[in-house]
Amino acid sequence: MFERIYPAKIILPMKMHYGVPAIPAVKVGDYVRIGQCVGVPPKGSFSVPVHSGISGRVSDISEIRLPNGIITPAVTIINDMKRNRLESVKPRSGFKISASETIGIIRNAGICGMGGEGIPTAAKLKRARNEAIKDFLVNCLQSEPYSTCDLVAITEYPDYVVLGACACARAVGASRCVFLISENRKEQRKALANSIDKIKADFKDLEFDIKLFRERFPQGYYRLVARALYGKNLLLGETLEKTCKAVLFNCSTMLACWEALSDNIPMMSRIVSVTGDASGGHNMLVPIGTPVSELLVNAQDVRNGSDRIVWGNCLTGIEIKDTEHTPIVKTTSVISAIRRTEVPKTPCIHCGLCSECCPMNLSPNTIYEMLNQGLRQKASEEGARDCIACGSCSYVCPAGINLTTAIASFAGEGRIIEVNSLLDNSGLDDRLLDDYDAPDVGGTSLLEDYSDDDDNNDKKATDSITLPFEKDKEV
Ligand code: SF4
Ligand code: SF4
Repeated sequence: MFERIYPAKIILPMKMHYGVPAIPAVKVGDYVRIGQCVGVPPKGSFSVPVHSGISGRVSDISEIRLPNGIITPAVTIINDMKRNRLESVKPRSGFKISASETIGIIRNAGICGMGGEGIPTAAKLKRARNEAIKDFLVNCLQSEPYSTCDLVAITEYPDYVVLGACACARAVGASRCVFLISENRKEQRKALANSIDKIKADFKDLEFDIKLFRERFPQGYYRLVARALYGKNLLLGETLEKTCKAVLFNCSTMLACWEALSDNIPMMSRIVSVTGDASGGHNMLVPIGTPVSELLVNAQDVRNGSDRIVWGNCLTGIEIKDTEHTPIVKTTSVISAIRRTEVPKTPCIHCGLCSECCPMNLSPNTIYEMLNQGLRQKASEEGARDCIACGSCSYVCPAGINLTTAIASFAGEGRIIEVNSLLDNSGLDDRLLDDYDAPDVGGTSLLEDYSDDDDNNDKKATDSITLPFEKDKEV
């Protein structure tokens, strides 16, 4: 279950995705309706459009700074509470659609990955198709502490998640659709299995599978998935697509794709968990751009007793001070309200907890010591560059040592140097680096060549695929 929030205003950043910002397509005073595009990608750029999830008037267009340091133009819209919607936002009636059309609809709907870096979904699909992937993986492994928005999406809309995955799997030419989920999520497993049973007759060309994982943070990270499913340790520059012939998408992203394909709904809202370490929590369906303060007003129980509001999960998120001017963006899955606990700082007591919890099998205390002593080469040899900044080691350390910041910054630094040299040697597009604001310690997407140009050499572009749309369904 989730609550619906219809805010008094939204602040829509033009950059909520990996790539260059969109350009505002409205001016102050303009009236906009639900589903209207208010930001367009610069021509030929690696970007996605931005749409309004409310109706009302544009009151401001100015630069804002997001908690992650990104400075971007943002369009503020004051809600007239009339819920006027564009006529075009309604179920599609066509039953046949080509692979290229599928990807085009997803691109025009402004969809980017909702589980992490916000990579434009259309670009990722194109690359998967060009790599001739076999396995289309759907990440249903929500493992961030306290966060359950993906699980709610599966429980409430299992058919949409499965249909979105099937449509995208067909569009990239995959032969297997695999759902990855924690073994103890019985309700969601059942919901997915039921949906697969219902629709598999419409997708006879696809095999289906549900793979069970142990619940562990950050279980859905693509390098861990590569290791768990294919026994591959991805090295720098290696991708799931190239090395494992697989591509991985978040389940909420698949839900958004089916909304776009079936109902012509652009990415203008999302489910967000509002949760904390003091009490239960909420899941809220909110228009993208809703100020965090509006969510907190509706979650007083979570807020009580908490003195830190975090944009993201409590391990890797960023503390925010100004909740009124900080919006929910396309990649915000959780707002955490947590208590400030000061752990007394002591030297390392060699308890080994940090090594036990590290998903990359590193020895964070050893690496931390090496970095403190300036032994950077040794730290590298010890695997420090593999750190994915999950925050687990700092979280468990009883000595209050901030291991993550030191190790993850070192890993991020290394990646910039290695990325530069890779780009020098590969002829990849330099614009991938133009957007590099802060060490991207969480992933290696900078190394990945996501082309957003039209495919000239796209062999399957004209392949016809059939999607089982529900005709005449009310939005
Ligand atoms: S932050 Fe890095 S070193 Fe620490 S547990 Fe996570 S991956 Fe391991
Ligand atoms: S968890 Fe902290 S105290 Fe324990 S070994 Fe790691 S750094 Fe040392």
